[in-house]
Amino acid sequence: MVSPRNTAQAAFAPALELVRKYNIPGPRYTSYPTAPQFSADIDRAALLDEIDRDNANPASPLSLYFHLPFCETLCWYCGCNTVITRRRGAGDDYLGLLERELALTAPLLNPARPVTQLHFGGGTPTFLPPAQIDRLAALIHRYFRFAPDAENSVEIDPRRLTKEHVEAYRRLGCNRASLGVQDTNPEVQLAIHHWQPLAQTAQAVAWLRDSGYRSVSLDLIYGLPLQTRDTFARTIDDALTLAPDRLAVFSYAHVPWLKPAQKIFEQRDQLPGTEEKLAMLMTAITKLTAAGYVHIGMDHFARPDDELARAHRDGTLYRNFQGYSTRAGASLYGFGVSSISQTDGSFRQNHKELDAYEAALNAHTLPIERGYLLTADDKRRRTIISDLMCRGGLDFAGLSRRLGVDFAATYAAELDSLADLEADGLLVRAPGRVTITDLGQLFLRIIAMRFDAYLTRRPANYSKTV
Ligand code: SF4
Repeated sequence: MVSPRNTAQAAFAPALELVRKYNIPGPRYTSYPTAPQFSADIDRAALLDEIDRDNANPASPLSLYFHLPFCETLCWYCGCNTVITRRRGAGDDYLGLLERELALTAPLLNPARPVTQLHFGGGTPTFLPPAQIDRLAALIHRYFRFAPDAENSVEIDPRRLTKEHVEAYRRLGCNRASLGVQDTNPEVQLAIHHWQPLAQTAQAVAWLRDSGYRSVSLDLIYGLPLQTRDTFARTIDDALTLAPDRLAVFSYAHVPWLKPAQKIFEQRDQLPGTEEKLAMLMTAITKLTAAGYVHIGMDHFARPDDELARAHRDGTLYRNFQGYSTRAGASLYGFGVSSISQTDGSFRQNHKELDAYEAALNAHTLPIERGYLLTADDKRRRTIISDLMCRGGLDFAGLSRRLGVDFAATYAAELDSLADLEADGLLVRAPGRVTITDLGQLFLRIIAMRFDAYLTRRPANYSKTV
């Protein structure tokens, strides 16, 4: 069992050494294969066959994702797919497009399938005024049947939030919310063009609690301009005053070749170094575990009685495009610009540009930009990487049973490639098992990369792993 509090204290010095060695670009493994493998040159008929197969079983659960891309202003660190506008009519126009996408998709789905998970991401889902949120609710409930215990979540930007927004998403069925906080230090907030006094966040949390949301999560980011381990320690303390059920402490992804607004941080020479970033992560682990939160893996923390912490304990944790999750086995159907859908054997992603997304819908076609059909080897590696990210290691006998192959023989080369990671103390290899050490928990992406068949074939522009 991982003990993150001890991890942070005991592992600091060796981690500082290792971070230089292993801080290379790599995926976050919210999927395998990862999105850079998706191709526009995809057999669409085969994708539709896959959707057909996916809908054969009326009991198989659905996970829905709606991408609501609008924001009023651009945060300079932003890595999301956004449309910056202050035009409220944009929301109504977009709902019209979602309505058409739902109408095109619904005939492909088995209407008996229960929705067990729903997520609104963006952009800023609360960009939509309450009346538009109610319109969205009517649309969704027209097409889908929700399981009584469905986990329905919405990403909240506290800066322009009203109680009416919170209540509208609650009427829709949302029972979980995650709030973007990033950092509470005013200088950092100015540097990233995201001004959000703590009182504003506290007000949002109070409205969510009053409205009956059963889980509130705060999102923080380390590695932002002007942050130090000391300023970030105060951000953690501030976040703890709000008593969230979960926290996500993400590493800032610096990808100026994809997000040009991020270049300003380099021009002003404001970004903390790798060692300082690592110190911030370890400060977060120390403080949050001292406050009673369980470190779920990579970047997530939860109260011990939270579903996520329970899933972590009983080995049912799962990783999807939103990060760690408890709802394994649901097929993901994404709607809206840039959204990704996933069945057992396929991925498909909608157009990332609003114009192209709209043009496809105008032509009465599904707005698919690119996709991927998984091979048998992809599916096996997906399971292996998921076990590394979620279960703390690899159990050869269990994997052989689940994968239907002799795991150790089939992946002997990958297992051999772990020797340097073992020598550096990131994992322990024993007969029939690989166990990730406390130190190795900080390098999960590096360990998982050894089982990624595509990294050497087609390197992609990922952010750094620490
Ligand atoms: S609110 Fe979120 S999605 Fe919108 S610009 Fe800021 S970071 Fe990006």
